[in-house]
Amino acid sequence: MKKGAANHEYSFFGNVERYFDKAAAHTQYPKGLLDQIKACNSVYQMRFPIKIGDRVEVIEAYRVQHSQHKVPCKGGIRYSLGVNQDEVMALASLMTYKCAIVDVPFGGAKGGIKIDPKKYTEDQLERITRRYTVELMKKGFIGPGIDVPAPDYGTGEREMSWILDTYVAFNPGQVEAYGCVTGKPVSQGGVRGRKEATGRGVFFGIRELCNVPEDMKALGLTIGIEGKRVVVQGLGNVGYHSALFFWEAGATIVGLAEIDCALYNAKGLDLNDVMKYKAEHGSLLTYPNAKVFKNAGACLEFDCDILVPAALENVITGENAPRVKAKIIAEGANGPVTPDAEEILLKKGCYIIPDMYLNAGGVTVSYFEWLKNLSHVRFGRMDKRFTENSNLKFVSTIERITGQKITDGEREGLTHGPDEVDLVNSGLEETMISAFHDIRRVLKGSKKIKDHRTAAFVVSINKVAGAYMSLGIWP
Ligand code: GLU
Repeated sequence: MKKGAANHEYSFFGNVERYFDKAAAHTQYPKGLLDQIKACNSVYQMRFPIKIGDRVEVIEAYRVQHSQHKVPCKGGIRYSLGVNQDEVMALASLMTYKCAIVDVPFGGAKGGIKIDPKKYTEDQLERITRRYTVELMKKGFIGPGIDVPAPDYGTGEREMSWILDTYVAFNPGQVEAYGCVTGKPVSQGGVRGRKEATGRGVFFGIRELCNVPEDMKALGLTIGIEGKRVVVQGLGNVGYHSALFFWEAGATIVGLAEIDCALYNAKGLDLNDVMKYKAEHGSLLTYPNAKVFKNAGACLEFDCDILVPAALENVITGENAPRVKAKIIAEGANGPVTPDAEEILLKKGCYIIPDMYLNAGGVTVSYFEWLKNLSHVRFGRMDKRFTENSNLKFVSTIERITGQKITDGEREGLTHGPDEVDLVNSGLEETMISAFHDIRRVLKGSKKIKDHRTAAFVVSINKVAGAYMSLGIWP
């Protein structure tokens, strides 16, 4: 792995292994146990034929289950020409560590189909997705208690609904069948708040960091999100929603990047205006209210406080890391910073908030969706009215005792019982805040651990090792 090498020269799985080994050195577990945690347990590579027009195309696809220390396994499915076995193995292993960090009781998995989804009609994509689901079923790689896919790069609610429909058709009467996949549309057993969840989690994680006076002092930044200069690379589901939550909280979005260009405006970009322009023109290359860079990667070097790479892996490398100006690198994507780049950035005093923690909001809310599917009841259904009535009684009693009347708006705010989306967002907020402090405690509690990623890996390794230890085969 050469320093400054082009992206394709990196083994993504090798990078994750390097990060793991660095953290494992701070634990006391026997080598055999660490080897078992690190290994990908099951790798399924498949090929299947799909009729595209008047020809047949052989599709290459994968599903990797990294760990079954807890079941089901969990992780998204990616549609991209960049999909290969190494990438899916890396992403599956990150899922194990991600679930452990946020106490989601699943093992890690990931899937991928090597296609450019933009090159296919909706009908062709549906056939590819349904056939992939059947291939997973044939080998026992999908099921609510076995392995539960979700959206990832290039997939969304539509693909998840095709997976669900195929699985349900082949498993009639299976009462928990809707838990076979998450990220579904709400009308098909999805949970409110899932689509925004990863971006919302990225925001919660960074907000928590920005609220720690000691950390902000160390970085030479003010406390809080307001006024922070933020750059977001990628305007897909994760990038767009991260940008939206930062923007709504009063941050200045100085830079945004798409696949073909990057925008910069030191005074701040209007996110609604950018998205409207993109929808109307199909591209941001001619966007008038910013300086436009034809090289999208330029955004990684923009002057800012917080840089959120929210697209693909290996974008910050040993080559461009010396030119990164951000003080906080918030990994919305999986694996955007290579180990070579990390070394350079840490030396510069940057904080890198690692993917395995920061983008875990998606899988956290997937867990909530799975729980909803198994329980067959919408969150809040049983207690919303009860909570409202109790709150109303409380408010009326205070009014009677004090002789003061509150406004209708205040009454609404004080008595409101939680809807599903309130509970999901609050569960996500709690998860992101407590996991942040779990990582920070390890970081602050050790003189030898110097960075957030290593601390996060130590937290994960401890949890996964705990599950394996209970098997009783390690001394
Ligand atoms: N693909 C997302 C991730 O990388 C979500 C996975 C899930 O919800 O299972 O975290």
